[in-house]
Amino acid sequence: MAINLLGGVKLPKNNENLQYKDITEIKPPEVYAVPVVTSNGLPAEPVVKIGDEVEEGQLIVKPTGSRGSFVYSPTCGKVVSIIDKFTPKGKKIQHIIIKNNGKLTTHTFSPLKDKTAKELLKRLALCGLVDANFGGTPTYLRYTLSAIERKFTLYVVISNTDPYISSNEALVINRTAEVVGGAKYFARILASKKIVFVYNGRAKKTKKLLKKYLKAHEPQLKYSFKEISNNYPSDNIMLLMHRFKTKTKLFTEGDYKKAFVEDAITCYNFFNAVEFNMPVNSRVVTVGGNNIDKKGNYIVKNGTSFEHILNVVGTVDDKKPFKILNGGIMTGMCQYTTDVSCNLETRTVSFINESEFDMQDESPCINCGRCVSVCPMNLVPNVLDDYCVNRKHFDAEKHGLKSCIECGCCSYVCPSKRYLTQRISTVKKQVEGGDK
Ligand code: SF4
Ligand code: SF4
Repeated sequence: MAINLLGGVKLPKNNENLQYKDITEIKPPEVYAVPVVTSNGLPAEPVVKIGDEVEEGQLIVKPTGSRGSFVYSPTCGKVVSIIDKFTPKGKKIQHIIIKNNGKLTTHTFSPLKDKTAKELLKRLALCGLVDANFGGTPTYLRYTLSAIERKFTLYVVISNTDPYISSNEALVINRTAEVVGGAKYFARILASKKIVFVYNGRAKKTKKLLKKYLKAHEPQLKYSFKEISNNYPSDNIMLLMHRFKTKTKLFTEGDYKKAFVEDAITCYNFFNAVEFNMPVNSRVVTVGGNNIDKKGNYIVKNGTSFEHILNVVGTVDDKKPFKILNGGIMTGMCQYTTDVSCNLETRTVSFINESEFDMQDESPCINCGRCVSVCPMNLVPNVLDDYCVNRKHFDAEKHGLKSCIECGCCSYVCPSKRYLTQRISTVKKQVEGGDK
């Protein structure tokens, strides 16, 4: 039976079924602009200088503290400059500009000997994997050494509730063995007795395909499936983690405090880092929006510009996109230029036309309470917004500002078109002092 997560909104279904299309790699660009840090702002520094020749997979950035992430070159080429540049999230940070020389030499890690939990954790720390759901935080930070052998239960999200994003499902359908393999490695780190695959009701076909695969290829694996509500954002990882922590009586099995949630994309990348010893330098990105000719899920290398993606996927009738979003239709951030690069936390790039964009001026709050009823984190968005407008940051914090997962549901339903999510998100970043 489907679990009814509180809140959220019903969104129209994505009828394009992009998840069933094969995942292809975006043709390599001539130049990459690789951000030196992920957007969580953890300090890091380049280990290459202008004029250096680099190979694909070579280390180009190392953390300066104990919590940052390693960054590996997406290509073979020459470092032509290191400049300050805006990220799609609007933060100005150092980027390493690498001119692709067309060579195909790749650097890989040494193979792991035993693939024990400790070895896997070490690979996780070095491979460069970051969490798109947690503002680009290195994934290994959630898996500290203390997590080993403490019998956590691993939940893997295999669906997407945002109709503009289909990368989880696309990977489960097209790269099943890799997703399951990565999940098994995470389960080993956590000493999870079984893997619970989480999906929303719209992804029943994907669940069926996965079940068939598991029956045929993984007879020893202990697993189960958990269906959750179709409402957006029911399969958001931050939301699911919150549900577990707060012991919301929506999940009836497992030890709530000892739940770890991953998604199919993270499992896929981790599998490649362990099995094929590949540093993480790309991510599967859904490229969508009604302005696009070749919509789909693509493997996009770190540092690939939006401009290059646009050239590859083409636009309908060669018409310029009305808006370019870093993200899906609910939470995407409008870009002023295509001269920004995808990074390892880019999930979706949307090139949309006028019919998909409803731009209206906001009007005063009428206290209808709709934003409250849809907030999946049980916040009171109109009150939070009021504190944000009046710069009462302390009061906003007291009313759960930091718990906001920036899902956009409150803005979506507001009849006064209040810019609730945008303001709450901006103040949240100011309070946290980063770009999460
Ligand atoms: S939905 Fe909009 S108008 Fe209604 S209470 Fe919330 S902010 Fe106010
Ligand atoms: S306040 Fe935050 S979590 Fe709640 S609906 Fe708005 S954006 Fe989502």
